[in-house]
Amino acid sequence: MSSKDAAFWQAKADALQARGQAFIHGRRADAADGRTFPTINPATGRVLAEVARCGAAEVELAARSARQAFNNGDWAGLPPRERKAVLLRLASLMEEHADELALLDCLDMGKPISDASQIDVPGSVAVLRWYAEAIDKLYEQVAPTGQDALALITREPVGVVAAVVPWNFPLDMAVWKLAPALAAGNSVILKPAEQSPLSALRLAELATAAGLPDGVFNVLPGYGEEVGAALGRHPDIDCLTFTGSTEVGKHFLRYAGESNMKQVWLECGGKSANLVFADCGDLELAAQRAAFGIFFNQGQVCSANSRLLVERAILPRFLDKLLSAAAAWQPGNPLHPDSRAGCLVDARQTERVLRYIETGKAEGGRLLCGGERLQLDGGDCYIPPTIFSEMRPDMTIVREEIFGPVLCVLPFDSEEEAIAMANDSQYGLAASVWSDDVNRIHRVARALRAGTVSVNTVDALDPAVPFGGMKQSGFGRDLSLHALDKFTQLKTTWIQLRR
Ligand code: NAP
Ligand code: MG
Repeated sequence: MSSKDAAFWQAKADALQARGQAFIHGRRADAADGRTFPTINPATGRVLAEVARCGAAEVELAARSARQAFNNGDWAGLPPRERKAVLLRLASLMEEHADELALLDCLDMGKPISDASQIDVPGSVAVLRWYAEAIDKLYEQVAPTGQDALALITREPVGVVAAVVPWNFPLDMAVWKLAPALAAGNSVILKPAEQSPLSALRLAELATAAGLPDGVFNVLPGYGEEVGAALGRHPDIDCLTFTGSTEVGKHFLRYAGESNMKQVWLECGGKSANLVFADCGDLELAAQRAAFGIFFNQGQVCSANSRLLVERAILPRFLDKLLSAAAAWQPGNPLHPDSRAGCLVDARQTERVLRYIETGKAEGGRLLCGGERLQLDGGDCYIPPTIFSEMRPDMTIVREEIFGPVLCVLPFDSEEEAIAMANDSQYGLAASVWSDDVNRIHRVARALRAGTVSVNTVDALDPAVPFGGMKQSGFGRDLSLHALDKFTQLKTTWIQLRR
């Protein structure tokens, strides 16, 4: 990696010619009415590309193409081993184009190039390979009906899957949906976030080059209220898988209820609690991971550990360590490989986070560090690591998802109080626990209402383990074999036997 310095990435960025046309039925296409919208690099404010502003007309085209591809069996009808071969070719093509894909996400939404190239791209390649490798190793079932019948329980793809994803991990979120859906034999229509459509569009070109038949993977960039809503309401889409805010997730439930009752799977917001007990054996590590848990990706992580609950006896000692750990997350130019944090996705999100910081101050939070907007190389979507201490559970910024680098620290005095505080949220995506007491670890992990509980680490994640939420963080799971439940349906074939 050492040869890829800031000059290397800057030269690549200068030479980049990003294309914003949609991808429908195996080729690039303008919106039917020719409308576009700009996608902007938040680090510079410069337009990266004019992007097709898709709407109901393009959803109709893509849905027809996806349905036709599904019905003719060019993909769904292939033996799993052959689908696997195409997906593995796509994974290799992504690796060949890794720099370009990383650059697209870095420029489109401001994440550091080191994260995009070392975490996002390899992470999405790993997820794609995982599902490609899994799909030809799954067996179906025969039910225990006795001698007079043979009841087969088989899994079929659901058909046409629409995926609507956010901007915080543009390529990863696309692949988390795409990989299991395609592996299972579905056709997919993907709507990337309006802030970050470029990597998904490039991915679709690579998928076609890898041998994916036309219509099996379409990408429709555009606005949520237009293309997102049209996907949600379309009568011939069988399943809608969404990652984004809880508010928009509820729209999709409504759209389905008002149209064809398509299956809806929601990965929504979070306000994850990180519990540090006095019996934690490595407070240094806990502090470093607590900082990672909130400042990674500029805090724009659904499972961000945004509430830090610390046992009062160790609070002052822990805050000292936390403050030094936070200093390492000072934002820098996203194209510079040494920058551990970049900028926020756009001015609107930056201003939203700053408003929350003002609310935190107004409600009596004590600001330990950060809290201001920074200018860097002409860009102003930067906010440094921000920590509030002496927070109370009823404060606005303790309750609402901020989606920025803002941490709320709350003290607790007992295990019961810590559990009650952690569960006192409309969300239930993730939680972390730091303790060396094995009994406490199991007690607390069982009591926490969260889809993932990480113990003595934060944000534990792997293609092999399910990821998703409880309560208003949503339902259904991404990753692992369990994600295939969303993209397949069970069929019973009962064969009555003559004796
Ligand atoms: P968002 O506003 O909910 O947008 C997500 C997607 O939905 C975007 O593609 C968006 O399109 C689309 N959309 C917006 N309004 C819509 C509408 N009325 N009808 C149909 N589609 C609509 O979320 P975001 O701001 O991009 O991302 C941040 C949120 O995502 C946070 O709440 C975060 O917690 C959540 N998130 C959750 C997970 C998880 O796995 N649980 C992971 C990552 C992020 P536009 O781009 O045009 O608005
Ligand atoms: Mg952008």
